[in-house]
Amino acid sequence: MGKVEIINGVETINGEGFQLTLLDKVIGAARANSVWPLPFATSCCGIEYMGTMGSNYDVARFGMERMSFSPRQADLLIVAGTISKKLAPILKQVYEQMAEPKWVLSVGACASSGGIFDTYSVLQGIDRVIPVDVYVPGCPPRPEQIIEGCMNIHRLVKSESLRRRYSDEYKHLLKKYDLNDE
Ligand code: SF4
Repeated sequence: MGKVEIINGVETINGEGFQLTLLDKVIGAARANSVWPLPFATSCCGIEYMGTMGSNYDVARFGMERMSFSPRQADLLIVAGTISKKLAPILKQVYEQMAEPKWVLSVGACASSGGIFDTYSVLQGIDRVIPVDVYVPGCPPRPEQIIEGCMNIHRLVKSESLRRRYSDEYKHLLKKYDLNDE
């Protein structure tokens, strides 16, 4: 019997001429290292996100340099900035147009809770219309915090079961948000 090793965060058993691991783990590692983000940036937090995309922070290290402005070619929705109630249905539509599996990163106080804009026109958190996987606090968060949020998304992607999307729990979540599960 071979010994257990961790290779790129994936637990494997290696021996002479063979390597064993779980399909869930391999696919999770592949997905986590090739996330294509869709930036839904509306205000100041969006500028911080642009800073994060600069050469100084080099998100290509994590396989995340390929931006997608089409929901159909993206798997991580990054919402950065104030979302007005008028914009909320558009955000929901963009989320619905993304194919499974997909994740959502809420960047900054405005996207997460409405921030300082406790007014009639501002959505008090995007989780009122779409499910959020990771929240990044701050007004605005620094690029390092945004990268930490992305790392948390990667941890989630790596550890998520392939079958989670077919689970009753996930279907219940989509139903709660009145989202199509097809
Ligand atoms: S959280 Fe602060 S920095 Fe970010 S969009 Fe809102 S007001 Fe601007």
